[in-house]
Amino acid sequence: MSKLAIFGGSPVRETPIHYGKQYIDQADIDAVAATLVSPALTGGPKVTELENKLCEITGAKYAVAVSNGTAALHLAAMAAGFGEGDEVIVSSITFAASSNSVLYVGAKPVFADIKHNTYNIDPESVRKLITPRTKGVVAVDFTGQSIESEEIREICKEHNLVFIEDAAHAMGTKYDGKPVGSIADMTCFSFHPVKTVTSGEGGAITTNDEETYKKLMRLRSHGITRNQEEMVHPTDARWYNEQVELGFNYRITDIQAALLISQLDKLPAFSKRRWEIVEKYNEAFKDMPEIQVQEEIPQSDTTRHLYILRLNTELLNCDRRQFFDALWAENICCQVHYLPVYWHSYYEKLGYEKGLCPEAESYYNSSMSLPLYYTLSDAEVEDVIKAVKKVVDYYRFFL
Ligand SMILES: *Cc1c(COP(=O)(O)O)cnc(C)c1O
Repeated sequence: MSKLAIFGGSPVRETPIHYGKQYIDQADIDAVAATLVSPALTGGPKVTELENKLCEITGAKYAVAVSNGTAALHLAAMAAGFGEGDEVIVSSITFAASSNSVLYVGAKPVFADIKHNTYNIDPESVRKLITPRTKGVVAVDFTGQSIESEEIREICKEHNLVFIEDAAHAMGTKYDGKPVGSIADMTCFSFHPVKTVTSGEGGAITTNDEETYKKLMRLRSHGITRNQEEMVHPTDARWYNEQVELGFNYRITDIQAALLISQLDKLPAFSKRRWEIVEKYNEAFKDMPEIQVQEEIPQSDTTRHLYILRLNTELLNCDRRQFFDALWAENICCQVHYLPVYWHSYYEKLGYEKGLCPEAESYYNSSMSLPLYYTLSDAEVEDVIKAVKKVVDYYRFFL
């Protein structure tokens, strides 16, 4: 099927384009190579340099770099103090890790619906889900667009909740002129290769609170401290370190840190090109009633991670599956982000039922992600647009 278009003869392209791809240049390679022959492969100066750079970019006071984005979310949930009997409100359209982090600490994820036009968490839905057991919110900057931080922060303040922002998609995004990473109580990033900047695997938590920072630093490395002030049995013996709580090995290596430092130098160029591609798609689709273009809130200055093609399925003689397969047959290898988290069979077994978040479910049934990455050429963007138009023309209802 990938060889021959489902209809209309030969496919728009001979070679496949995927929805995402990393970009590694010579500077990245040199940075990694230099670190490989340096004295410290892990726990060294590159990790600290990366954390300083993350503070600079996000405007946060503290940054803790960790082994991946899921580890960042797990440590944030621990530092927030979530536990047995607590409820934490989570975006319903997100990667499962956002709510898995709540399960890891024994708390219960409660899923909030999304807005029809932005696909981000709906603050009204959050409000309705608050109970005396609610302890926090994990809100995702879906596609890279900022959540409505002001509204979410208000809700958290009013009800004394910990505000965690899952910014795995949103490195480089600003809200109301402030970089994502300096707004929530804790912000979690991922540097997996599909994200805007990568360290292979990697993640980070940023915060402005010193106690939270100290706790995150301990939890990243087994709950062990070398700081006498944090010890129950302080001593100045040089060898002595003390485990004061139960943590993990969630450390990032200096090799990964060196790669990410070099990648972050390219963030402005990455953001700019990604936005140019978004505008080309938006321009091509804005007058097509069969397609709904994602709306942006005016406060968000977005570095876009994903481009969502949302179908107006009432105007098309096909479902999402048929449209998706037709694009693949044209060699446009789109993806779907995401299944509503509670539709996963694991969550089903925990007792979550379909119908919880109608907007999220309708979004899922009508959406797919088109190719969006730094090196996607104008000609390739044109091919994607051509393919989308071809499939829409084929499936359009004729009156
Ligand atoms: C990628 C991603 C994560 C997890 O990050 P990893 O680095 O892969 O562990 C968490 N949340 C969202 C929204 C993501 O897209």
